[in-house]
Amino acid sequence: MIIFTGAGISAESGISTFRDSGGLWDNYKIEEICSGGCLDWNYEETIAFYDKRRLDIQDKEPNKAHREIVKLAKAYPKELKIITQNVDDMFEKAGCTNVLHLHGFLREVRCEACGFLDDIGYVKLRDVYNACPRCSHPLRPNVVFFGEAAPKYADMYQELTDCEMLVVIGTSGNVINTDMFVRSGICHAILNNLEPSDAIDERVYSKVLYKKATEAVDEIVHDVQTFLQEG
Ligand code: NAD
Repeated sequence: MIIFTGAGISAESGISTFRDSGGLWDNYKIEEICSGGCLDWNYEETIAFYDKRRLDIQDKEPNKAHREIVKLAKAYPKELKIITQNVDDMFEKAGCTNVLHLHGFLREVRCEACGFLDDIGYVKLRDVYNACPRCSHPLRPNVVFFGEAAPKYADMYQELTDCEMLVVIGTSGNVINTDMFVRSGICHAILNNLEPSDAIDERVYSKVLYKKATEAVDEIVHDVQTFLQEG
């Protein structure tokens, strides 16, 4: 059983989504601050952008959807896995410590040269490090940029090998398309977004809920519990 989430689940916590209009990203050019290579030619601006986002999540709180899903994950620790494209820490703040973050974790910085990794919390990178404390290489946010390898995808595919039910919440399907996961043999699949997305074929899902995640989550929890108890 996999709960797969994207930026939409954190929208009601006040964290901007990527593609919805009015989102944080409207004000930035992707190629300048979150594409592979931008650290080479635009280091200061890229670091400043992620500093801002790290500071921004400090006072954000998990919403009902995060909290209910974490409750479910605690009730079924062996059966249920949370996988997220999000780099925020809303699931962690709700009490879950083993979420699979496919695209990194905003609170962390890392060294590409020696692998040094540290959770710096909600501060600017330069307030903690000028460079890697082990090898002096410049540090970077532990976030996967467009065009970069995403090593955690291997873990996701591993989780998918024996997945029998998939719940997709708050993702437009532009970065990772979950339709293909469902098509590869998952019989029970729920999709929850605010509205249809051009990148998602809703016909492959057994249930589609176009409403806020906080309004859909009770029905989702009920369906998951029923599935797990009957299974
Ligand atoms: P996206 O912005 O492309 O799509 C957001 C989706 O969420 C849309 O389909 C929209 O209908 C839906 N949505 C919006 N508000 C919702 C709500 N209240 N309840 C339910 N659904 C809602 O997001 P994406 O597909 O996750 O792709 C964005 C990429 O950018 C990801 O790879 C992610 O790593 C990154 N990102 C992360 C965050 C974060 O960590 N919170 C925020 C922005 C972007």
